[in-house]
Amino acid sequence: MHPIQMVDLKRQYHKIKKEVDEAVLNVIESTAFINGKPVQEFAINLSSYLGIRHVIPCANGTDALQIAMMALDLKPGDEVITPSFTFIATTEVIALLRLTPVFVEVDQKTFCMDPKALEKAITPRTKAIVPVHLYGHAAPLDEILTIAENHNLVVIEDNAQAIGGDYFSKKIASPPSADRRIASAPPRKTGTLGHIGTTSFFPSKNLGAYGDGGAIFTDDDALADKMKMIANHGQRKRYYYEMVGCNSRLDTLQAAVLNIKLKHLDEYIRARQAVADFYDNAFADNPTIVTPHRASYCTHVFHQYTLVLNDVDRDGLVAFLAEHKIPSMIYYPVPGHHQQMFSHYETANVSLPVTDWLTERVISLPIHTEMDKEQLEFIASKVLEFVNR
Ligand SMILES: *Cc1c(COP(=O)(O)O)cnc(C)c1O
Repeated sequence: MHPIQMVDLKRQYHKIKKEVDEAVLNVIESTAFINGKPVQEFAINLSSYLGIRHVIPCANGTDALQIAMMALDLKPGDEVITPSFTFIATTEVIALLRLTPVFVEVDQKTFCMDPKALEKAITPRTKAIVPVHLYGHAAPLDEILTIAENHNLVVIEDNAQAIGGDYFSKKIASPPSADRRIASAPPRKTGTLGHIGTTSFFPSKNLGAYGDGGAIFTDDDALADKMKMIANHGQRKRYYYEMVGCNSRLDTLQAAVLNIKLKHLDEYIRARQAVADFYDNAFADNPTIVTPHRASYCTHVFHQYTLVLNDVDRDGLVAFLAEHKIPSMIYYPVPGHHQQMFSHYETANVSLPVTDWLTERVISLPIHTEMDKEQLEFIASKVLEFVNR
């Protein structure tokens, strides 16, 4: 049996090695390491894949969130509502920009922002909402966008874990130029329904580069223009700086790799979904294991396969799996509102019982594009052996 890993990037690379090696060598030969042709090509390729007007490549998914928020002209102390149950980048950039992160509860089934909690958290200082499509499952955007509309708030979708996912919106039709508000519209891609979407090309993400990378998406021409400027030191014309920006670029080598991997994204998603289907079947009807929910409004792209354990010694399971050389992870062991970095925020001093409950019970199993049946059967049998004993 192949050794089991959380992600197996090596076997994935070997299947596209020839094409990738050639593209990478071409970049090196061209020496256009910064803003070379593959960067613009990738922006075009990704925008047509997503069905969105603008894709702005940048250095990583954290920068993408930061640049999106910098474009909103917010003032210190303005509130940005976000789940606590997410990767730290989502909430960290809010604080970095001297805005106030307001942590809200997630839904126990989808692990994503609970619209009822969102509505309750809105105050006169609220300016933006950052839903996170956690583990590859979309947050309920129709509800979130309706609330945002009613309160005149900006929605930034953190799509780092869900790129390629479909959202069946009853609210927003596809493509963007078509008539709006058509029921049973064809799906839109997650990350393209809010005002701004952000993503990460961290190597282990569903569309991973061979280093860091990120992107911002929007249909709004003015916002796109501004975010491009912010990512480039606040300049439109070289050496004339209109506003304070940052330096955030996707490098050409990464863009060259991503142009190839984007062509395989749908196939990679199907491979992840097949792994999830296998696990779902294996754990069906086991009272101690709750398999991931799949809401009818979206497709789950399974960046992670995350179980909720009932009355199982989770540390014991992690150790037992490790003894059998099966890695597992807890995403995430400490939610944002309990992190020391936010301890001085009054808004972190909140009770989020669902978030805390999930934090104690979730476990993520290996899932990637290269898993085989032998590995899956072995993992499932060991999980069941432990929980059934
Ligand atoms: C990975 C990730 C990010 C940050 O991406 P980087 O490229 O590592 O900066 C942000 N949000 C979520 C939910 C992520 O999973």
